[in-house]
Amino acid sequence: MPAVSCRLTLIAGPSGVGKGTLVAQLLARHPDIWLSVSATTRAPRAREVEGEHYFFLSRENFEQQVAAAGFLEWAEFSGNLYGTPRQPVEEMLALGRPVLLEIELEGARQVRQSFPAGFQVLIKPPSFGELERRIRGRGTDGEEAIAKRLERARVELQAEAEFDGVLVNGDLGEALVALEQMIGLPAGQ
Ligand code: ADP
Ligand code: 5GP
Repeated sequence: MPAVSCRLTLIAGPSGVGKGTLVAQLLARHPDIWLSVSATTRAPRAREVEGEHYFFLSRENFEQQVAAAGFLEWAEFSGNLYGTPRQPVEEMLALGRPVLLEIELEGARQVRQSFPAGFQVLIKPPSFGELERRIRGRGTDGEEAIAKRLERARVELQAEAEFDGVLVNGDLGEALVALEQMIGLPAGQ
């Protein structure tokens, strides 16, 4: 079922595959979509803004939120905790706004339990070599973080069969149009 009917779309895929890039372009073309801002214990990268890219929390603070059932889902990724604040997602769905989550595999599995009608898309790289080039090209992660992310990428890519749709992000423009079609959106501007 396309996302517009169920109103919750989830995008997953290995770090560096281009999820953030695709999502930014999708939002620019479809301003009615509401993107969930996650919480994380990871340190902010250069140019990341509190409340816009993430809510940056201490581990203690994050764990308090977990205990208070404040997250729709949460998971550990590459040594840091990431979670989707529950309340804003529920509020936006109640208002009838299309909701978009961009999260990793373990979280996607949890959301599949709580929102079985949601539409989940896995974004894949054209090749593993290209994925590594993109992570390195982004220039935001040290060697240790890159190694962890690439190791995790192999696991994420093996989960392809769990997803409602799979998309290769080769040419960005083509991937964007294919994503719009897959989730039932009209072509953007
Ligand atoms: P993610 O959010 O999945 O971790 P990003 O959106 O940060 O990935 O993209 C990682 C890097 O790859 C960025 O430098 C981005 O500009 C680049 N990138 C994204 N999509 C493409 C594409 N289709 N072709 C080439 N480079 C891309
Ligand atoms: P990054 O550190 O590169 O911003 O994100 C690392 C991974 O965490 C990415 O795969 C991203 O999709 C995922 N992620 C971001 N927010 C959340 C979240 O709220 N929950 C889960 N489970 N994963 C998230």
